[in-house]
Amino acid sequence: MTLPKNERGLGANEKIILEKFVRYINKVYGVARYAHQLRDNKSRRSIKTAVVAYLLLFAFALEVSSFNKMTVLLEYNKKRFHNLFPKGTRLPKIDALRETVKSMWLEDVLAMYDGIIDKAIENKVLRENTINGLRVAAVDGVELFSSKVKCCEDCLTREVKGEDEYFHKAVVCMTVGCDPHIALGVEMLGPKNDGSDKDEGEMTGVKRLLTNLHQKHYHFADVIVADALYMNAPFLNLVTGIGMDAVVRAKDERLNIVQDALGLFKGREPDHEFHDTKKQVWAWDEAHFHMNGYGGNIRFLKFVETWVTPKGKEMRREAWCITTLGKNISAHTVWLIMRKRWHIENNGFRMLKTYFHADHNYVHGKGANEKILLFILMAFNLMELFLFRRLKDFREKKIPRYLIKEMILWELDTHNMAEHFACFDTG
Ligand SMILES: [Zn+2]
Repeated sequence: MTLPKNERGLGANEKIILEKFVRYINKVYGVARYAHQLRDNKSRRSIKTAVVAYLLLFAFALEVSSFNKMTVLLEYNKKRFHNLFPKGTRLPKIDALRETVKSMWLEDVLAMYDGIIDKAIENKVLRENTINGLRVAAVDGVELFSSKVKCCEDCLTREVKGEDEYFHKAVVCMTVGCDPHIALGVEMLGPKNDGSDKDEGEMTGVKRLLTNLHQKHYHFADVIVADALYMNAPFLNLVTGIGMDAVVRAKDERLNIVQDALGLFKGREPDHEFHDTKKQVWAWDEAHFHMNGYGGNIRFLKFVETWVTPKGKEMRREAWCITTLGKNISAHTVWLIMRKRWHIENNGFRMLKTYFHADHNYVHGKGANEKILLFILMAFNLMELFLFRRLKDFREKKIPRYLIKEMILWELDTHNMAEHFACFDTG
């Protein structure tokens, strides 16, 4: 096979980025093979379902983040996406795309999702992504969109200024540490039903999420980090129950454990001092606290950070957290875990929030939102894996993500990638 002459001087023998990407996600992660295995509500595999799944993954990976934008790409710039499929494949119009998402089987989309995660684990992605040797994953809630009009039986309900508002919400578990960040799993929160008078809360969702992830992938993390909403005994019991440790941000000064710890630390010299990324950090650290309903010892840490801004202003910040990690893990490591959780909120989770908030026009209906969310997260995972595992110099060269995505989209205009999709065609 002769490779097209590289127009942007990446080196004459270097494959174009598009081909690297398509090859990588199919050869390593079997994306096209999974797409061909998806069944629809007529309980058959159809080429249309495979095309839609493959198309969605590319669109989301390249940050075609709204259905409006996708309509434009599908209807006015046909050649681009046609180059992913064998000659003669009919690409769906936006309505057909929506209907196909609704009719594909959720369990098959989940199997595809979990298969990609399993492969990443097999390829030691998680083992190599640690904070001082600990594999850390964060859990957090993500609200998908809201509307004044009830759209489906899965909608959650809340009152805003005396009016009912409907929305969907999910809890996501994502690795925290260094790149690549991987969204390990997601659970949608359920609406109230006959047996309950309240919609499911985040805590219930996280319990299902971590239990399922533990069943599927066993010891997928050493530490689960969460924000102050999870500072309670059931969460600590849940995490330690699956053989992991918890680091949870503490914020509420009214809690006994917070008052006890701050009282104890008052007037006492810090136990540790360290420097990290231009910050000077002092830590107070005590391991013998208790919480009603949790049998183990709880370690409480208070951090005071100071730093100087580029303009010379002196800054100071205080933060607290609790953890089930023993004192063999340094205060510096616990501080890093807490800080990286915040980092993920500003990157991974924000991506999800902006995708959904930007567009109220997504597919809506029982199970449909979950399938779209799964495709978005799969696309996110595949792109992260590609950037940091396949394009090995991506990090060193500090190439912006958007530039890689633009190059792939641009190359899709002129390069046919059909063979990678077609070889699994069950026809
Ligand atoms: Zn709904």
